[in-house]
This record gives sequence, structure tokens and C-alpha cells, in this order.
Amino acid sequence: MSPDIMHELDRIDTLSGQMISLCMQCGVCSASCPNVLEMDLTPRAVMHHAQLGQMDKILSGKTIWVCSSCLQCSVRCPRGIDLARVMEAFRLVKLRKREGMLDPADLDPACSDAPPILLVAAMRKLTG
Ligand code: SF4
Ligand code: SF4
Repeated sequence: MSPDIMHELDRIDTLSGQMISLCMQCGVCSASCPNVLEMDLTPRAVMHHAQLGQMDKILSGKTIWVCSSCLQCSVRCPRGIDLARVMEAFRLVKLRKREGMLDPADLDPACSDAPPILLVAAMRKLTG
């Protein structure tokens, strides 16, 4: 595994306060998740790809956004991993990459006709 990927994994561990390496791939989290049918990667698969350093598969998928932080997986994991916090850590990493963010300088002048509250909300959400 490259040093860059190790760094990313360490970052997930640090941000979440969990140790991804503890996961034993039992699948209890996936069986407990109420949203699993809407996910492209099950929670167990997220942990699997994370352990292999395949961060892009996780960050480019929709699972981390489908997770509703319900904590079912966290309370049932036999290894005591708070997977909801791991999902949150991945969301933070993705947001910090600032991909797809709005640059106010690129806004179409026609946007000046939009309600100010809409522009403020968009800036708060999409400019990081
Ligand atoms: S329940 Fe815990 S140990 Fe089992 S696969 Fe999920 S995260 Fe890993
Ligand atoms: S916290 Fe997220 S991943 Fe865990 S069971 Fe709930 S929705 Fe599924």
C-alpha cells in the first residue's frame, strides 16, 4: 500500500476515532443497516475497501451519503467499531476535496436576479 493511501487511512482513523483495521468482515453492520438496499457498497464493503486502501471506490460511490447515521451498525458491531463515525469521516474527506464546489466568480450574471436567500444558501452549502 502506498504511503499516500496509508496517510488517507490514518486520516479516516483519526477523524472517526476508530480503527478500520479491527474490522473482521463479519457483515453484521450490513445486515443491520436499514438503508443497505439503497447503497452501492454495503457498510461491510466500505470497510473492506478501506482496509485495502481503495478509497476512491468509497468516495465516488453514494453509500456515504445514503447513510443516515442511525447507529444500528455501531451498536451491533462485535468489534466495537462505530461505523457511523467512519461514514462521517469519509463524508468529511470527500467534502474537503472541494470537488464540484461553486466558485462565486463563475456564477452566471443572470443569478443576480435570484432571491438573495437562495444565493446565500447555495454559497454556504457549495463553497466549503
Ligand atoms: S459489524 Fe463491525 S466487524 Fe463486522 S463487518 Fe461491520 S464493521 Fe466490520
Ligand atoms: S449508521 Fe449508516 S451505515 Fe450504519 S446502519 Fe445506520 S444507515 Fe447503515
